[in-house]
Amino acid sequence: MRRVDEGSFTTGAGYVKAVGSKVTKKFEVGDPVLLSFDHCTKCTQCRTGHPAYCDLFNPLNLGGEAATFKGADGDVTGQFFGQSSFASLSAVKQTSLVNVKGLIKDEDELKLFAPMGCGFQTGAGTVVNLAAATSEDSVVVLGLGGVGSAAILVGQHSNSRCYGKGLLIDRRQAAKIVGCQKVIGVDRVKSRLELAKTLGATDCLDTSSADLNIVEEVKKLTGGEGSRIVIDTTGVPALIEAGLEFAASRGKLIFIGVPPSDYSLSVHVLTAIKVRLLSVSARSLAKAGGDRVSVRTELLTSIIHRRGDS
Ligand SMILES: [Zn+2]
Repeated sequence: MRRVDEGSFTTGAGYVKAVGSKVTKKFEVGDPVLLSFDHCTKCTQCRTGHPAYCDLFNPLNLGGEAATFKGADGDVTGQFFGQSSFASLSAVKQTSLVNVKGLIKDEDELKLFAPMGCGFQTGAGTVVNLAAATSEDSVVVLGLGGVGSAAILVGQHSNSRCYGKGLLIDRRQAAKIVGCQKVIGVDRVKSRLELAKTLGATDCLDTSSADLNIVEEVKKLTGGEGSRIVIDTTGVPALIEAGLEFAASRGKLIFIGVPPSDYSLSVHVLTAIKVRLLSVSARSLAKAGGDRVSVRTELLTSIIHRRGDS
């Protein structure tokens, strides 16, 4: 596969250069494809539609497999996240590929959708699937990198108009996005906060400000109730603990970020009993097989249109 995107190592996009003899899905040379994580397709998690929780996720995606592919100049052993998409040419299993032929109009658009394979679907899937957010909910997103920005984009206020760098949400289809009451972005990088506003955040909090009391601010912004959904993408203990404080009764605190390996969250049971704590494997939007395609197809064709297309 010839890779065309310039972005991350966990996702990629490119065109099929050759198809192996054991490939059973429909791929042809020249097909545009998006890359995502690998999964075994056989364990209970895979068979029940949760490949992100595959029993073999770590060995398949984090380097456990050696010499999967043979080459004239030696074996290819690196296959990070099932694909190693830092390379300009990648040998990829069919389980890591989604064929987007007919959905993508050109190479520039293919590059644009490369992040669908990890960050985008993690942030979007957390809001839609795990949090099951509704228009009645308020959402705080801690950390506005790719995952957090996707959560903002999907949770955005339904009255927002225009979003994103070169992207336009079609208002006729915006109802498909959640349209939460409040979408509050939190970060310490001003450019990310500015971007979050263009993606539909109703409010932004800058944690680089020494004067910020994030618990008080979130409660103020949510009419004293606190946020019904808190999504942490940072792994920063102070933010996670603040999130526990400003989560509303019967709210959800969702962990995506990776905290320090020796960190344990201390929970005062009588205080925290009102909040559901949920952890999410990245890529929570991903479903097995055809669902992975259909979810992306919907996102590609129904939600996001390039500016000027509609
Ligand atoms: Zn599996």
